[in-house]
Amino acid sequence: MTLDAKTAFDALRMREIVPALRQEIGGHPLVYLDNAASTLRPQQVLDAQNAFEESSYSNVHRGVHTLSQRATQAFEDARETVARFIGATSSNEIVFVRGTTEALNLVAQTHGRQAVSEGDQVMVSEMEHHSNIVPWQMLCSETGAQLVKIPLTESGDLDLDVYHEALSERTKIVAISHVSNVLGTKNPIEEMAQSARSVGATVVVDGAQSAPHLGVDVEALGCDFYAFSAHKLYGPSGMGALWGKQDLLEAMPPWQGGGSMIRSVSFSGTEWNELPYKFEAGTPNITGAVGMAAAIDFLEAIGLEPIAAREAELLEAARSALLAESSVQVLGDPKQRASVVSFLIDGIHAHDVGQVLDQEGVAVRVGHHCAQPIMEFYGVASTSRASFGVYNDASDIDRLIDAIRTAKSFFAV
Ligand code: PMP
Repeated sequence: MTLDAKTAFDALRMREIVPALRQEIGGHPLVYLDNAASTLRPQQVLDAQNAFEESSYSNVHRGVHTLSQRATQAFEDARETVARFIGATSSNEIVFVRGTTEALNLVAQTHGRQAVSEGDQVMVSEMEHHSNIVPWQMLCSETGAQLVKIPLTESGDLDLDVYHEALSERTKIVAISHVSNVLGTKNPIEEMAQSARSVGATVVVDGAQSAPHLGVDVEALGCDFYAFSAHKLYGPSGMGALWGKQDLLEAMPPWQGGGSMIRSVSFSGTEWNELPYKFEAGTPNITGAVGMAAAIDFLEAIGLEPIAAREAELLEAARSALLAESSVQVLGDPKQRASVVSFLIDGIHAHDVGQVLDQEGVAVRVGHHCAQPIMEFYGVASTSRASFGVYNDASDIDRLIDAIRTAKSFFAV
């Protein structure tokens, strides 16, 4: 089923095409505001996966029988779709992985080990998800390099003056998220990448929160690697993609060894396969790739521009409504932002907020959101986070605010 932007944004129609939205939680129609963790899957993604499983599923590559050929075709078509979606020049630059976390670990352990030595620096920002901190910490402790932090400012932006000052010939890698999963900050990747390039550093972008919400063009961003997950863009979990510049991928050693990543194996020596297979050891998530491509088709049928515009409106409406609410504090006020807002209610623990909201049928995420340095910066243990997707509308914000009021009266705040 293809959608035009107008019908696609009809909330009722969304409830028709996203089966999980057609249920009640606690006796209320579900309002799903946990899209930054995982989006719900539209029927057309589920159907594409089922149809593939029913008629074309088999292992990919090297099979001569019909099912294997169909599966290989679908898997490689999915790679083309992913490449086109993010503006990659070639599908050889798309490595299928389990998700953003695996993609970042892959880069740290291959390109990272190659590029970084004792005394060098790896820069990450203070707003990173743990998956864009820990792999670099591991690399630094292994190589004797130094992990340098790009600090946050109170508004939830990065301190770019400190960043530009700190860059030097010693900086080998700059790893930053495109959009923060806690503050919604949209970082100026183009500008940051340009400065990083001027000192010869490679730029790794965590695109987990940008791919589903903004039209992404990796060439225009000026980065070297871009990682994202299918389960945050209406596709399946356990699936994602790493984009890397072809010359860098060519120069990198393989990550995991095994089947598919080799051209030939002998006890006298093994030859690696060509890109991208060099980085895809073992049987991949074949149905996951089909689901990811179907999810991209779903997003593209609506259009990334209308999605970004619509979600920006929702975000601003939600922020205003939260700011107008007594006892509610919104974390940060970043200059440019997308799809995510974190808030606190005075006197109520975020986990209690999450529980009352759930009873009211409103799903938000509570906790540290795998970004403990942000929590430390703001001096809080946890927040509640509302994050938007294509199926949300203004009535969901009303429901969020009503549920917050219920929580406040329950806890007598
Ligand atoms: N980076 C960011 C900004 C994220 O929001 C997430 C998921 N919360 C990740 C990385 C990790 O993604 P995954 O769990 O799909 O590997």
